[in-house]
Amino acid sequence: MSRPHVLIVGAGFAGYRAARTLARLTRNRADVTLLNPTDYFLYLPLLPQVAAGILEARRVTVSLPGTLHGVRLVLGEADAVDLDGRTVRYTGPEGGTGSLAYDRLVLAVGSVNKLLPIPGVAEHAHGFRGLPEALYLRDHVTRQVELAAAEDDPAACAARCTFVVVGAGYTGTEVAAHLKMFTDRLVRRQPLPAGVRPRWILLDVAPRVLPELDERLSRTADRVLRSRGVEVRMGTSVKEATREGVVLTDGEFVASRTLVWCVGVRPDPLVQGVGQPLERGRLIVDPYLQLPSRSDVFACGDAAAVPDLQHPGSFTPMTAQHAWRQGKVAGENVAGSLGLGRRRRPYRHRDLGFAVDLGGVRAAANPFGVPLSGPAAGAVTRGYHLAALPGNRIRVAADWLLDAVLPRQGVQLGLVRSWSVPLDTASPELARVPGGPQWPSPQPGDEPMAPETAPTPPTRPAHPGHPDHPAPGPVKRTDPPDPADRPNAPD
Ligand SMILES: Cc1cc2nc3c(=O)[nH]c(=O)nc-3n(C[C@H](O)[C@H](O)[C@H](O)COP(=O)(O)OP(=O)(O)OC[C@H]3O[C@@H](n4cnc5c(N)ncnc54)[C@H](O)[C@@H]3O)c2cc1C
Repeated sequence: MSRPHVLIVGAGFAGYRAARTLARLTRNRADVTLLNPTDYFLYLPLLPQVAAGILEARRVTVSLPGTLHGVRLVLGEADAVDLDGRTVRYTGPEGGTGSLAYDRLVLAVGSVNKLLPIPGVAEHAHGFRGLPEALYLRDHVTRQVELAAAEDDPAACAARCTFVVVGAGYTGTEVAAHLKMFTDRLVRRQPLPAGVRPRWILLDVAPRVLPELDERLSRTADRVLRSRGVEVRMGTSVKEATREGVVLTDGEFVASRTLVWCVGVRPDPLVQGVGQPLERGRLIVDPYLQLPSRSDVFACGDAAAVPDLQHPGSFTPMTAQHAWRQGKVAGENVAGSLGLGRRRRPYRHRDLGFAVDLGGVRAAANPFGVPLSGPAAGAVTRGYHLAALPGNRIRVAADWLLDAVLPRQGVQLGLVRSWSVPLDTASPELARVPGGPQWPSPQPGDEPMAPETAPTPPTRPAHPGHPDHPAPGPVKRTDPPDPADRPNAPD
């Protein structure tokens, strides 16, 4: 009898844990395939530290082939799910397409930047949901400070050194806290004319920072941000974004070249096409993480609306904590449904608290409900991240140690360009590249965060080459284009 085939789509917190759990429980009695656009799991909570130059980008990644033994990785993005035909269609990294059959499917595709219909935002803001955006922001901010230092015009200098972050959830709060420290360090090395100081503004329509967390964490974060010089403006958002700056909802115009969009996330658009009931864009599942009408399909993490058994009537929030634990339950329940593991169990999870790293030794944390601030919170937060990282712990700890004793490197490599990280994308984990599946639509001169424009598309049609990632088993795919047909990446 042939072995059952389990397909997991997405290798974030939920998908990675589901794959690891399944590999352990099934041990060669099932084929486990993981479909993901990158060959790594991304530890998102440390992304602000990548943007601030504390951690090198690879530190927050964990190799999928290197850590998931017994799991076959297929590189690609799912485009469509055929529940009746039990197949998932996908596009590979070089544009080739294929399809994967399954006996059990786990959808764990996470979320993408949330957009709001505010004029100019889609064109002039950048999100903070993937590694390319973090690398872009680090370079962009460094470049603004370097350009400002050479400006003769004080107004232009001030605009370049004014950075606006929208959204004071944990992402926006950490980005503002870390990057204010980063720019202060850059300016110490390269003073700005006329005593201009880097100005960071954190906006949110909510009445307090970290509105979704315990008020005590908000107070700590607010205090640290203000003491560091971040302008915390609650009850305020952006009315319009332009090349020259942003118009705030209170009518003030802020001249700036930087708008970082951290207003939240929405479920990955793939789940909309599944044709099953949704709750605010998330696939509704039962407490066993199964689709109510399809016992062969499971969903977990940000993309799934999982009933919160601790708070009946609500769904679990979109956090790494939930996604990670749901991944384990999904893996166990899939194995159970194949008769290969324990009996299936419902997802139930008690809140372990939250930790927000504010840079330096400062943090706001409430492990097991105990509110902490200052260095104690800093130690708990970093200890938590080290424990939660599924790999690379020594490298991360080494980077933290080096950052504590050495000056931070403030150089821009310019490898990720403005046009390659648009705010409106279903793939924030991938920078758009010339010849890639998602071809950029250049808008010359329309991007204040970086003046560069996209290269022109190739005029020659791509012709079939040989597949770089042949996939055995139930995979069918067309040949991807020959890499030689792609133009060189821009400098
Ligand atoms: C900057 C930042 C900081 C955060 N900090 C915290 C924190 O401190 N604590 C906390 O609890 N939460 C935090 N979060 C939220 C947390 O990261 C998410 O809730 C968590 O990542 C959700 O896990 P997931 O597995 O559902 O999705 P993800 O981790 O986003 O993984 C989804 C995976 O699916 C892949 N994928 C997407 N579409 C497709 C497709 N069509 N086909 C194939 N694969 C696809 C993606 O590439 C990715 O690998 C943070 C988020 C961000 C952005």
